[in-house]
Amino acid sequence: MARDRTQRAVEEGAGPDWQSLDLFAPTPEHALLAETLREFVEREVEGQAAEHDRDERFNHALFRRAGELGLLGVTVPEAHGGAGMDAIAAVQVFEALSTSDPGFGLAVLAHAILFTQNLAVNGNDEQRGRVLPKATSGEWIGGLCMTEPEVGTDVLAMRTRAVREGEVYRLSGTKTFITNGGIDEETLGDVFIVYATTGEREISSFLVEKGMEGFQLGQKWSDKLGMRASFTAELVFDGVPVPFANRLGEEGEGTLHMMRNLEIERLTLAAQALGIAQRCLAVMIDYANERKAFGRPIRDFGQIQRYIAETFAEYRAARSYVYDTARRLSLSATGQRVDADATKLFAAQVGKRAADAAIQVLGGNGYMGEYVVQRLWRDAKLLEIGGGTLEAHHKNLSKDLCRDPSIIG
Ligand SMILES: Cc1cc2nc3c(=O)[nH]c(=O)nc-3n(C[C@H](O)[C@H](O)[C@H](O)COP(=O)(O)OP(=O)(O)OC[C@H]3O[C@@H](n4cnc5c(N)ncnc54)[C@H](O)[C@@H]3O)c2cc1C
Repeated sequence: MARDRTQRAVEEGAGPDWQSLDLFAPTPEHALLAETLREFVEREVEGQAAEHDRDERFNHALFRRAGELGLLGVTVPEAHGGAGMDAIAAVQVFEALSTSDPGFGLAVLAHAILFTQNLAVNGNDEQRGRVLPKATSGEWIGGLCMTEPEVGTDVLAMRTRAVREGEVYRLSGTKTFITNGGIDEETLGDVFIVYATTGEREISSFLVEKGMEGFQLGQKWSDKLGMRASFTAELVFDGVPVPFANRLGEEGEGTLHMMRNLEIERLTLAAQALGIAQRCLAVMIDYANERKAFGRPIRDFGQIQRYIAETFAEYRAARSYVYDTARRLSLSATGQRVDADATKLFAAQVGKRAADAAIQVLGGNGYMGEYVVQRLWRDAKLLEIGGGTLEAHHKNLSKDLCRDPSIIG
């Protein structure tokens, strides 16, 4: 399996292997993954997507199947039960799943990237050995707890606190909008990375497991606009005793963990938008070929041609940018913050515009639940909010660029 190339190249003292990293001529490993994903999506994901969206239900069996295929630990080292692949492979996974079921894709992303990849990089050997095999197989469902009812974008102002008491930290606070917070209304997810303060604007990371005293499933967020096949919940920490052994890294390293993980998180969310745009383009092309008006296929009308052509150009531009950033992104270090922000800023809007264009090309049919594009349109909106709002990306990007204009190249 392909390793994290940039990291390996850096370790070996060489530059990245640009020649073998061609989006349109993938390595054998990436080509095999693409084929596995194509079959999985066609045979197992597509058929259940509309129903799980309608019923707002997480497909636990499909999640385990994704584990069998190695998709839940795609970037995790093989020694810990993962596929040991790179950021390009992660992007492939989330683009492919999101051509069909972005809601299921989001549940996989929260587990495989926000939790599992995060632990693989920021945990110690004992934590990795104990948790990762269960996470990569899908036996345990994981998630990440950053957002709070009063604090989202302004993350350093979080209120969840961890206070040392004897042999444990007492964790108190509430996290909200947590993907995989539960499996259903009654059942808490299995394991979470929770960010909490251990001092004045000092954040640390903790592993919190189902069954710990005082750890409860709070409100379920029902009737979401989109991403309805993922379960979103509030989680309550009522003085949870978290053993010292469950702290990731040192006290105060939480902000670093967050920053390391945000790059791959934003890039894979951008990949979700690519999947949405790709599918919307395919649907609108099919429809424009079939549908007739005024005695002609609607593909003959200039305004329809504009929707198709603009969507294609934007999709290709976003795709090139996302994959190009993926091949430069190290899974274990920061360094691509600007491009991770910018790819998500751009691709999220491309995905939403593509879904909007597809609905327009399909006319009344586009508005109806029988057609996939209205579901994709609803799902696409999340990508302008989750993992950083558009405005957060504007803020971060302009700050970095104004400080160092040489970044533009
Ligand atoms: C379906 C779903 C799943 C999610 N999954 C998770 C998860 O698994 N784990 C997790 O921790 N979180 C999760 N989130 C939370 C998500 O990351 C936050 O909603 C997001 O970061 C925004 O925070 P907020 O909702 O508190 O909005 P706020 O931060 O309150 O923002 C409100 C508005 O103010 C704007 N704003 C805020 N600050 C500024 C500024 N400085 N300049 C300009 N504008 C600003 C924002 O852009 C936005 O438009 C999820 C959210 C959703 C909807």
